[in-house]
Amino acid sequence: MTKNEFKIHFFREQIPTFSCTPGCHDCCGPVTASSEEVARLPIKTDAEHDTALAELTCPYLGENGCEVYDDRPLICRLYGTTPSMLCPHEKKPEQMIDSRIERKIHDFHAQTRQILL
Ligand code: SF4
Ligand code: SF4
Repeated sequence: MTKNEFKIHFFREQIPTFSCTPGCHDCCGPVTASSEEVARLPIKTDAEHDTALAELTCPYLGENGCEVYDDRPLICRLYGTTPSMLCPHEKKPEQMIDSRIERKIHDFHAQTRQILL
């Protein structure tokens, strides 16, 4: 496991989870993720990427929701767990993310090559 893969694993464990409104994907859209996270995802064609971007959505959002849920990037996991990314439907975990961990995740994003999904 590389150092960045270890960090991703650590951050995943630290981000609190919660239940969304069933069937809701309102926070899915064009997102960026580190190259290590993107490398785990199935490859989409340029046409699929272009179509998703033109519709301001994510190429991994399928009819039944996120097609890569178990491997969704940190930014998707972070959504709704911090006051800086509140769910519009007021869904949230019992305890919001520790602000120190959130800072570390943002630092990680700033230090790694980010790729648009
Ligand atoms: S975090 Fe909120 S907006 Fe995003 S999918 Fe869950 S319920 Fe919907
Ligand atoms: S990877 Fe999944 S959770 Fe993240 S924006 Fe795309 S469809 Fe939504």
